[in-house]
Amino acid sequence: MDRIYMDYSATSPLRKEALDAMMPYLTENFGNPSSIHWFGRTAKKAMEEARASIASSIGAADPSEIIITSCGSEADNLAIWGVMETYGKKHIITSAIEHHAVIDTVKILAKEGYEATYIPVDEYGLVDPEAVRNAIRPDTGLVSIMHGNNEIGTIEPIGEIAGICKEKGVLFHTDAVQTLGHIPINVQAIGADLLSFAGHKFYGPKGIGGLYVRKGIRLEPQLTGGAQERKRRAGTENVAYIIGMAKALELAIAEMPDETRHLTTLRDRLIKGLFERIPEIKLNGHPTKRLPGNVNISYKYVEGESLLLHLDMNGIAASSGSACTSGSLEPSHVLMAIGLNHETAHGSVRMSLGKYNTEQDIDKVLEVYPGIVAKLREMSPLYVKTTCARKEFCDESGTCSVNK
Ligand SMILES: *Cc1c(COP(=O)(O)O)cnc(C)c1O
Repeated sequence: MDRIYMDYSATSPLRKEALDAMMPYLTENFGNPSSIHWFGRTAKKAMEEARASIASSIGAADPSEIIITSCGSEADNLAIWGVMETYGKKHIITSAIEHHAVIDTVKILAKEGYEATYIPVDEYGLVDPEAVRNAIRPDTGLVSIMHGNNEIGTIEPIGEIAGICKEKGVLFHTDAVQTLGHIPINVQAIGADLLSFAGHKFYGPKGIGGLYVRKGIRLEPQLTGGAQERKRRAGTENVAYIIGMAKALELAIAEMPDETRHLTTLRDRLIKGLFERIPEIKLNGHPTKRLPGNVNISYKYVEGESLLLHLDMNGIAASSGSACTSGSLEPSHVLMAIGLNHETAHGSVRMSLGKYNTEQDIDKVLEVYPGIVAKLREMSPLYVKTTCARKEFCDESGTCSVNK
């Protein structure tokens, strides 16, 4: 069976050019960058070139502003703990729809004596910058608001939020794991003080990421030992992966205009096609302020998990909510924050498109998906009730006031 991958927000395949760039550093050029001999110097030189390339890719003023981490989650943890432990302030602000790497970290801080404010979002998942302004207190140490949401694809007004933070003298961090390599990012133009990213979300390797930290910001290290990363993160560097990540980022930025056109065309065709073929569905996230490849839809009367299983049986890989919460019965905190009820949140599926998707992939989905939804709805007791002849007497939950 030809398999169709539509889960690029969970991870993307490693592109060939990145693998080719990595190979010599996995084999003959295996030195430890801290060593002073030829092997060490060779590895160090290539690693520092990669760091400089990443810095220039995001508009950083200096390569030393890039701290390499093991993943996006580590970058988020380092930003939050690193800042909060350094500056002695007690209050942190984040949003209600952050990735677990941010929101769970903030929850732990709140248990350890810090105070947290979670800014709510509107029905599209947008954070109101004025709400951030109003939440800032004299003891606020950090504001952390994500750039693009991993579940519903909403792109937040982080430039405005960063401006407010600057005005108020509060540091601003953004989780850009979903956006770097996909939409333009320049840390100077945004005004971000710290920014997280991860290689595997833009066709680089898994298990490597980074944190941009503006010069002059101090950061308590969370991994101690060696003096790597200017004493901000101990541990022998993953040289080959750093090189692969830098290569993937360079290419992603060079290809961005074409890639955006490709993805938005496929995305909008998929959304339009599903709305034409399947009744009683709802698009989650913002209609236009949206990641190019994100399609998140709620299907009334069905379980997202059942939809995923049936899609998978047809060779289509999608996701319900975020991969991190799949397998748990809790509805996604993001879908709850945009105001969905439990049932609607549970009936949601994310299809995240990427580089290797084609028009034929969209056609295949539009061919099989309506039948899957119809079949599952046939088996749903809620659906039978609301499709009775006297539908006008049925309430929101599907309970009929006539044919009880
Ligand atoms: C994937 C993701 C992360 C976590 O990155 P890892 O490299 O998997 O740790 C953090 N934030 C967002 C928004 C993500 O999409």
